Amino acid sequence: DVKIKRNADPKEEYTLEEEIGRGKFGTVYKCKEKSSGLCLAAKFISCPKKEDKRNVEREIDIMRMLQHPRLIQLYDAYENGKVMWVILELIEGGELFERVIDDDFILTEKACTIFMRQICEGVDFIHKQRILHLDMKPENILCLTKTGNRIKIIDFGLARKYDPDKKLQVLFGTPEFVAPEVVNFDAIGYGTDMWSVGVICYVLLSGLSPFMGSTDVETMANVTIAKYDFDDEAFQNISENAKDFIKKLLIKDLHQRMTAEECLQHDWLRRKKPILQRVSSMDVAKDNLKVFVERWNEHPNSPYVFEISDGDVELLKGDTGSESSHSLIADSPSPCGSIASSIENDNIFVE
Ligand code: ATP
Repeated sequence: DVKIKRNADPKEEYTLEEEIGRGKFGTVYKCKEKSSGLCLAAKFISCPKKEDKRNVEREIDIMRMLQHPRLIQLYDAYENGKVMWVILELIEGGELFERVIDDDFILTEKACTIFMRQICEGVDFIHKQRILHLDMKPENILCLTKTGNRIKIIDFGLARKYDPDKKLQVLFGTPEFVAPEVVNFDAIGYGTDMWSVGVICYVLLSGLSPFMGSTDVETMANVTIAKYDFDDEAFQNISENAKDFIKKLLIKDLHQRMTAEECLQHDWLRRKKPILQRVSSMDVAKDNLKVFVERWNEHPNSPYVFEISDGDVELLKGDTGSESSHSLIADSPSPCGSIASSIENDNIFVE
């Protein structure tokens, strides 16, 4: 059981190596445990404010509860002045979407089922621990190795413990992956992650973003009415089973969506009763995915987190975004709702 080491320096026990990743809140380095020679990842998070530390501590607390092969594993943690270090299992295969667009990778529907099954196994475990991930998106799914097909879910920075008897509301960015209840500031639940799983599946099979509009506001409007279709040629050779899987996730009412457990029992993902799984390469989807990844890398959608108490909105993480996204949100009435408009952003968190 990992306990945070206070006023200690990880450099005493670990040798820091090269930078391997960077997010909005942290920089990730490769590192080696001196005593064992074990290669790990060290995430450095600057915490100028008390709340920053509280957030990292919450992330650590949640990760402690999530010991599962499909989820990134916590190894050690440090607090040192205004800095925190989280030592994690090292995942060396890179982001799933980067992997599937590689020239050496043959993207087939069967390959998609293998990835989606693992994603659902991970989410099922998270939900069984009464936790919501709340930031399921392609960049948070990493491949274990460069050549294998095992994946892991990372980044529990927005995850929350969930009590189904208490109302939990959140509102945050990445409009393309966020569920209607988030945009509408309604009560969220396990289904909120399942919506994002549905979007990830749609993108993986087609390379297309189901709700994307020409502006964030348009995207969120599409999300709130759950408006999407399978009309594009990318879906021409996709099985009815796969479409049915997506249809049972991208449903406006979160209670009607499949649970992660139900997903694993769906014919498309079932191992016991194999359906005719398509092995022809999905060339259109792959070309589309290259465009998707390129766009995503140019405009990474890192989350902003606000906390609201007694009507006061306080920015906990991130900055306030570009001018354009400000005015887009501020000028629009629905679907972002009055709270989103009033704080002029798309990432709010309320418990
Ligand atoms: P975000 O801005 O998405 O919230 P963050 O600041 O919380 O990001 P992470 O998403 O945890 O940081 O990590 C940033 C990047 O570092 C990831 O996208 C990933 O590419 C890489 N990374 C994170 N953890 C690991 C790990 N354990 N092994 C290898 N690479 C990792």
